[in-house]
Amino acid sequence: MIVDSLGRQFSNLRLSLTAACNYACTYCVPDGKRLQAADAELEADEMIKITRLLMAAGGINKLRITGGEPLLSPKFDEVLPAVMKLGLSDVSVTSNGQLIPRKANLILDSGLKRINISLDTLDADKFRSIARSGDLATVLKGIDLLQAGGLKIKVNMVPMRGKNEDQILPLLEYCLDRDIELRFIELMNMGHLQHSALHTTQLFAMQDILDLIATRYEFVRADAPIDSTAARFHIPQRGHFGVIANESEPFCRTCTRLRVSSNGLLYGCLSNAKSYNLREVLHLPEALALAKVQQVLNSALRDKQTVSFRGEVTVMKFIGG
Ligand code: SAM
Repeated sequence: MIVDSLGRQFSNLRLSLTAACNYACTYCVPDGKRLQAADAELEADEMIKITRLLMAAGGINKLRITGGEPLLSPKFDEVLPAVMKLGLSDVSVTSNGQLIPRKANLILDSGLKRINISLDTLDADKFRSIARSGDLATVLKGIDLLQAGGLKIKVNMVPMRGKNEDQILPLLEYCLDRDIELRFIELMNMGHLQHSALHTTQLFAMQDILDLIATRYEFVRADAPIDSTAARFHIPQRGHFGVIANESEPFCRTCTRLRVSSNGLLYGCLSNAKSYNLREVLHLPEALALAKVQQVLNSALRDKQTVSFRGEVTVMKFIGG
């Protein structure tokens, strides 16, 4: 077991299938520029092998498939059904939802139980001004399709002052009506936002969110798993919502997350650009590969921040959001 001095270990892997995305969200990429996909992405079978090695060498038992936009990658069709058979205790996907209507059958057939869909607004114009692409109605249709197929859905929203904070209550109402847990993600200090004036002016922090929700609902703090990144709240008779308060209530001390980018780089911390290339272990004999992965995990665990999320120049769509 690989454990650090704070008792932290890796158990959750976020595997990025591709750095490419069909959106260009304002908080993710700078000024309308679509960042190109990284060269030399791993093949689907290499991603599956890396997942298996991390399970065997490091005790990884939960996996989230992410990106970029994972459904954009042809690898999704191979990786999802394969990782569902690896014996992980939990598999989930994070998607912007734009391609769900096309992939719904594959997702439902794979046996996936839950999915997080990013949605920052219910207003079609605001949608296009934040995502700078895509279509709101398609995302809503995707949510309906997967819910009808029995998937548990969470919606992720990034509230930004002056952009979409007026969407907090409509989105909450939409989610409560559908038994969907809404997760507000505080704007993170990453990529082009790192230490920028834009981050400071647009950050709509947990207390701002709670104050706004309190104008319409009564709620209480609810229990959350110890390694959860979200502070959870319960609105009696209606449901739950959460806030991922990386700025206001950092969760670094209990973080169990590990990331592998689509080009095979392993990151122990979202707030640290240090990475380890896993490509070289792919062709080693099994025992050597496992030993090497253990060594990498030991180093990566030391890269984790201890107290707070400092921010990093890395961009979520590359490191795997
Ligand atoms: N394309 C998928 C999606 O949209 O869910 C997966 C990748 S995306 C990078 C994962 C999550 O990161 C999304 O919920 C997105 O809103 C969030 N994200 C990206 N940059 C962020 C930032 N600077 N602050 C907060 N959340 C961010």
